Amino acid sequence: MSATRRDFLKGTAMLGAGLATARLATPALAQAKPKVVIIGGGPGGLIVLRELVNAGANAFDITLVEAQRQYTTCFYSNLYLGGFQRIETLTFDYGIVAKLPGVTVAHDLAATVDRQRREVVLQGGARLPYDRLVMAPGIDLDYGSVPGWSAAAEERMPHAWKGGAQTRLLKSQIEAVPDGGLIVMIAPPAPYRCPPGPYERASMMAWALKTAGKSKARIVILDPKERFSKQGLFQAGWEKYYPGVIEWLPQSIHGGVQSVDPATMTVVTGFETYAGAALVNVIPRQTAGRIAREAGLTNGDNYCPIDAFTMASRMDPAVFVVGDACIPGDMPKSAFSAASQARAAASVIRAELTGGAKPALEFANTCWSLIAADDSVKIGGAYAPSEAKITERSAFLSKPDESAEVRRDTYAESAAWYGELTAAMFL
Ligand SMILES: Cc1cc2nc3c(=O)[nH]c(=O)nc-3n(C[C@H](O)[C@H](O)[C@H](O)COP(=O)(O)OP(=O)(O)OC[C@H]3O[C@@H](n4cnc5c(N)ncnc54)[C@H](O)[C@@H]3O)c2cc1C
Repeated sequence: MSATRRDFLKGTAMLGAGLATARLATPALAQAKPKVVIIGGGPGGLIVLRELVNAGANAFDITLVEAQRQYTTCFYSNLYLGGFQRIETLTFDYGIVAKLPGVTVAHDLAATVDRQRREVVLQGGARLPYDRLVMAPGIDLDYGSVPGWSAAAEERMPHAWKGGAQTRLLKSQIEAVPDGGLIVMIAPPAPYRCPPGPYERASMMAWALKTAGKSKARIVILDPKERFSKQGLFQAGWEKYYPGVIEWLPQSIHGGVQSVDPATMTVVTGFETYAGAALVNVIPRQTAGRIAREAGLTNGDNYCPIDAFTMASRMDPAVFVVGDACIPGDMPKSAFSAASQARAAASVIRAELTGGAKPALEFANTCWSLIAADDSVKIGGAYAPSEAKITERSAFLSKPDESAEVRRDTYAESAAWYGELTAAMFL
């Protein structure tokens, strides 16, 4: 090796070491664009990406690491189960994202994060250095949390809590439920993605049964919780549209799910055995995505604590965690929340990397749920940072006695939101 090349490499190594220790200096190589690596191309990761691109002037060198080539939104997937959406309209690819200025898309798995060196290592072997890392891998499912259930069992007893093949499978299983058949849903313990999601799903399953003329089929929800999001609104809707079809049982009534047996489609609780179910939808306990946990960004609750004033990890100020993987304080884990956190994080990253003023963050969320055709309800709030967490400042909830017109307008709002969010992500 020539002296010149050796000296260069030595200099680079020293520079690397310096960068690792100078915790949050703006990028040392003044001529290089700041490097931002984003793990996860859901609403969390993609809205950060879009906001940084929109900052203009091709200012950042952004790499999106996303394992999948296509993304099927979980949000609005219940409406596919009910027959209100087609799966094709919920599925997007990353073609346009890859053409944005300054953006590279790596369709690979982020295998590890070397936080000392500030590098993401891909399964394919590439190493991606970063000045700021955005961690947005969503959730992992805890397959061990329901005795008898496993990754192998998800073909018989689907979760459909990640979008794509599982969503299609659940839909085909709903269609195959015979009249008089039993659907058992095992709801997840908090915290989990989309608090009203299981109950909107039950509504959409009931709608599918009703429109297929299967008036004798039943849905039992075994919940590890004692109450759930928008409970009064859902239960009033179930009584109105699907009387006697949906039975919700809290932990104190069913005594806990003891085991499931995918071979016989049996679910055993502390009080009853449901044998020969036509469909068992297991929505298990959830954690932050593996990469976030293995990068040492989670706490004992298996989610990532963040500084609510910046969305930076409490474990590493060069890493920002947005979306379902973070601990969002009073916000629910939702696509709306993920996008709101992403906008906040992007504004802080931009300020840190370009020397701008520190922004004051604010957050918002709305979760809509469709109970029956044109009957949508919503819950939401506005939030601000505090020392401890993202804190709720105001909240709203649909009223039980609203007119059909209000409910229809609420549905239209949800459709507009879905269109705007997916356009900001993929179009
Ligand atoms: C049935 C259902 C209904 C829902 N309805 C709504 C709704 O109406 N409104 C709403 O706001 N929210 C809804 N949600 C919640 C919403 O889908 C999630 O909150 C949202 O998707 C979270 O976004 P995210 O970016 O954090 O994670 P995700 O959307 O899960 O995206 C994470 C991405 O990271 C990728 N990834 C993970 N690990 C790696 C790795 N190591 N390397 C590379 N890539 C990786 C994954 O492939 C994935 O594409 C619903 C969820 C469900 C299940």
